[in-house]
Amino acid sequence: MARAIETGPALRQATVVSEPTQVDRTNRHELPVDTSVRNVFTVDLEDWPIAVLGPHHEISGRVVDNTKQILRILRWHSVRATFFVLTKVADRYPDLIRMVQDDGHEIASHGHGHELLTNITPDRFEDDVQRSIDILTMLTGTRPIGYRAPAFSIVKETRWAGEILQRLGLRYDSSVFPIRHPRYGIAGAPREFHRWAGMQLIEAPPATVRVVGRSLPIAGGGYFRLLPGQLVRTAISLSNRRGQPAVLYMHPYELDIDGIQEHRWDGLRFSPWRGMTQGMFRKRIEARLHRLLESFQFETLAEAVTRWESR
Ligand SMILES: [Zn+2]
Repeated sequence: MARAIETGPALRQATVVSEPTQVDRTNRHELPVDTSVRNVFTVDLEDWPIAVLGPHHEISGRVVDNTKQILRILRWHSVRATFFVLTKVADRYPDLIRMVQDDGHEIASHGHGHELLTNITPDRFEDDVQRSIDILTMLTGTRPIGYRAPAFSIVKETRWAGEILQRLGLRYDSSVFPIRHPRYGIAGAPREFHRWAGMQLIEAPPATVRVVGRSLPIAGGGYFRLLPGQLVRTAISLSNRRGQPAVLYMHPYELDIDGIQEHRWDGLRFSPWRGMTQGMFRKRIEARLHRLLESFQFETLAEAVTRWESR
């Protein structure tokens, strides 16, 4: 099949936009960076309507440009990341996934249809993950070893997911947010890499920080938009001082400054509140990303998991 989207030199050329000039280098008083620990930058490769408004939404073309923008930024900093691919996106834009792979990033699974685990049966979950593994294996020639649940929906009630993931041959999961939150997370779950009880499956939880006895998320997504950049960097440094990599995450649509408005023009219906909270501070994400990516060392989650296993 002909490549429908640009790769190689064309993309590299597009890289020469003045990214570093957008970087905010105020706040010099920070913890020294421990370069012996590598962190992990992950991307949930999905489109805004299906991820936020619900699984019945179609995949829009915006995901292509948004993902290409992330690839340009990662390439600028020579950072290899882990992309948790929603395979409904892969079905529609297979070349986009090959492009991510060609840049040296790890391709992992974000399932197929983005149905929250809390809304489906174990059988349906197994079918969804198996389907995504099959699609990614066919597309990339490599079987994925990692999984992240839609909206981090592995919670106390859906812990049955671990056994299914292991049975499907996955080596790690990165879905259990060790925080107290109304919609996701398991309060008190370990904040570090660990094995699921009685299983080989490894959990690589998204990064959190301890503040007055509570674990708070700093890992990415909305937190990354809303929290001060310095706080995020300090939290990563604190993790690294304990010898722990910080697992960060973001979504392509967070770089899409006009995305919310344009989805509305395209006829999508959602509340003004949702539009406002989801679109808030998107403009500052790119500069923050540059600052983050130039401040720390990174590797893929597959590499971090292998390093943890052989420690
Ligand atoms: Zn998602």
